[in-house]
Amino acid sequence: MGLVTPLPNQSRGVTLSVIVPFYNEEDVLPELHHRLMCVLESLSESSEVIYIDDGSTDKSSQLVTSFESDFASIRCIELSRNFGKEAAMSAGLEHSRGLAVIIIDADLQDPPELIPTMLAKWRQGYDVINMQRSERHGETWLKKTSAALFYRLMNTLVKSDIPENVGDFRLLSREVVDHINRLPERNRYMKGIFAWPGFSHATIPFKRDARYCGESKWNYLKLIGLAIDGITSFSIRPLRLATLIGASIALGAFIYGGFIVLKTVLLGEAVSGYPSLMVTQLALGGIQLLSIGLLGEYVGRIFIEVKARPLYLIRTVTDKSASATIKQMERKREF
Ligand code: UDP
Ligand code: MG
Repeated sequence: MGLVTPLPNQSRGVTLSVIVPFYNEEDVLPELHHRLMCVLESLSESSEVIYIDDGSTDKSSQLVTSFESDFASIRCIELSRNFGKEAAMSAGLEHSRGLAVIIIDADLQDPPELIPTMLAKWRQGYDVINMQRSERHGETWLKKTSAALFYRLMNTLVKSDIPENVGDFRLLSREVVDHINRLPERNRYMKGIFAWPGFSHATIPFKRDARYCGESKWNYLKLIGLAIDGITSFSIRPLRLATLIGASIALGAFIYGGFIVLKTVLLGEAVSGYPSLMVTQLALGGIQLLSIGLLGEYVGRIFIEVKARPLYLIRTVTDKSASATIKQMERKREF
C-alpha cells in the first residue's frame, strides 16, 4: 500500500472530502464528529469524511467505526501502526475522491465551522485555501516564537513559498491533490508539499483554538526533527552554504598563511600564538563536524528514498458509504 496513484478526477459524485488524521484522540472524536456532521448537514454538496487512524492504541478506532451519518459517507482507514501525521495525511489524500479536499486536525483546534467559508472561496476558483492562524490559543510563547523563526528560515532557504502560520488545515482542489499524490518522495514534509504545486492560493485568517482536551503529540525534539526534515527535503541551500563557508575560510587561511610566512622570514618568530591556534582549531573542527552532520542528513534522506518503502500500511478499511448514499438518495427523494 501507499503511494497508490489514483486516476485523476475520480470524484464519483463526491464534492467534498474531509480528511481527519488522528492518533489516540478518543476523548475528542465524538465531539469532532458531532460538530463536523452539523456542518456537513448544512451543505448542499455531497461529502465524505475519511478518518485516518494512525495506529491509535486507545478506543479511538472502535469509536470511529461506530460513527454513522445520514449526510456524508464515512470511511475509517486504520493504519497498521503509528506512521506519523505526514504519512496519515498522505493516506487520506490518496483515498480521497472529492473535488475539494479539506484536511483538519481531530483535536478541534481547527474549527469545522469554517468549512463553508473555505468552500465558498474554492467556488471562486482558488485551488489552495490556506487557513492562517491569526491567533494561537493554548500555545506557549516559546512554541510561537520558534515557529515564527522556523518559517523565516525555511522561506530564506527554500524557493517555493511556504506561507507563514499556516498548518495542515487547508483546502486543496482535486487537481492539486492529484499532483501531490503523484509525488514519489518518502520524505513527506507536507507543509512544503502543499505549497510546491503552486496554482492559485487564497488565505483565510482564523483564530486557532486551544486543544479540546488531551495534549499535543509533538514535543520540541519532534518539532526540531520536523524542521530539519522540512529544510533538507526541500532545499540543498544548506550544503551550498557549507561550501561557501568552507571556501571563505580556506581563502582567509591562505592570505593569513602568506602573511605569517612573510612575517617569519622578515622579522623572525619565537614560538607563540597558542591561544589563536586553539581558537582556530576548535572553530574549524566545529564547522567541519557541522558540515559532516549536514551531509549525513542528506545521505540519510537518499537512503530512505532509495529503499522506497511504502509510506504506510493499511490494516482495515471500514466504508459506510453505501448506507450514507442510500440515505442521501432517500433524503433527496423526500424533497
Ligand atoms: N496525529 C497523527 N499522528 C501522529 C501525531 C498526531 O495523526 O503521530 C494527529 C493528531 O491526532 C491530531 C493532529 O495530528 O489530530 C495534530 O496533532 P497535535 O494536536 O498533537 O499537534 P499540534 O496541534 O500540537 O501541532
Ligand atoms: Mg493540535
